[in-house]
Amino acid sequence: MRLAGIIGHPVAHSLSPVFQQAAFEACGLDARYERWDTPAEALAGRLVSLRDPKYLGANVTIPHKEAVIPLLDELGGQAARMGAVNTIVNREGRLFGFNTDGPGFVAAVRNEAAFDPAGRRCLLLGAGGAARGIAFALADARAAAVAIWNRSPERAERLARDVAASGAEVAPAAEPSPAGFDLVVNCTSLGMHGTGTEAELPCDPAQAAPGALFVDIVYAPEHTAWLQAARAAGVRTLGGLPMLIYQGALAFELWTGVHAPVETMFEAARKALAARGTP
Ligand code: NDP
Repeated sequence: MRLAGIIGHPVAHSLSPVFQQAAFEACGLDARYERWDTPAEALAGRLVSLRDPKYLGANVTIPHKEAVIPLLDELGGQAARMGAVNTIVNREGRLFGFNTDGPGFVAAVRNEAAFDPAGRRCLLLGAGGAARGIAFALADARAAAVAIWNRSPERAERLARDVAASGAEVAPAAEPSPAGFDLVVNCTSLGMHGTGTEAELPCDPAQAAPGALFVDIVYAPEHTAWLQAARAAGVRTLGGLPMLIYQGALAFELWTGVHAPVETMFEAARKALAARGTP
C-alpha cells in the first residue's frame, strides 16, 4: 500500500482526506490518504520520512507552504515564482514541490463555469495566500488585466509587484468595486462559516458589469451571502468547492499519473460538508 497525506498544523478539519481517499478507491488504487498534523519543529523530520518509497507524496497547508521549500529537491510549475508549495511528489526518493492552488482555480472556472480567463479583466478581493496563487495563475492564463484590492493596501501592492515581475498586466485596486471586470473573485475570508463575518459582502454586486462571473473561494458555506446577493442581482456565480476539488485533482494526477475522478471527489466533499452541518 502507498501513502499520501496532508502536512499542516492543524489538519483536523481538512476535507482533503475525504475526497482524496474517495478518489484512490474509485480508481482501484491500493493507497491511503492520512492526516499528518505537523508542528513546525517536526516538519524537517516529516519530509525526510516522505522520501521512503511507500510515500506517493503529500499536500501542504497552513502554516508550512513556504517553510517546506528549502527541504525539497526541485520545484515545478509556478511554485518557485510564487514562493509557496501545496503539493509534494516523491519520485524515487527525490521530493518535487508544486503549487496546484492557482491552476486548480483556473481549471475550476474553465470546467465548472465555462469561463476562459484569456483576454479578460479580473479583480481579486484579498491578497493573502490563496489570492497569491490565483493571481499568478490568471497571469499565466493570459488574463488581459488583474487588479488586486486588499483591506491592508500594502499587501495588495506587494502581490501586484511580484506578479507583474513576470510581465503580466497586474496592479493594485484602490476600491473593491466590480464595475468593469469580467471576473471578480472573493479571496478574503469574509463570509466563511465560523468567522462572525457570514453576512458581510466583500463588494456590492449591484455594480457588476453585464455578463460578469463572481467566484467566491470560500466553500463553507457553499452558498455564501455574497454569492446569494450576486445571484439575486442577476450575476453568474461559482462557489469555492470547485477550486478545492481541482487543486486536489491536479495533486492526485501528479502522485498517481491517473486521471482524477472529479465527480467522485465532489460527491465525497459535499457529503462530508453536509455531515458537518455546514449549510
Ligand atoms: P490569508 O489569511 O492568507 O488571507 C486572508 C485574506 O482575507 C487577506 O486578504 C485579509 O486581508 C482578508 N480579510 C480577512 N478578514 C477580513 C475582513 N474582515 N475584511 C476584509 N478583508 C479581510 O488566508 P487565505 O488566503 O489562505 O484564505 C482566504 C480564504 O480563502 C479563506 O476563507 C479560505 O478558507 C479560502 N480558501 C479556499 C480555497 C479553495 O480551494 N476554495 C483554498 C485556499 C483558501 P488583510 O491582508 O487586510 O488581513
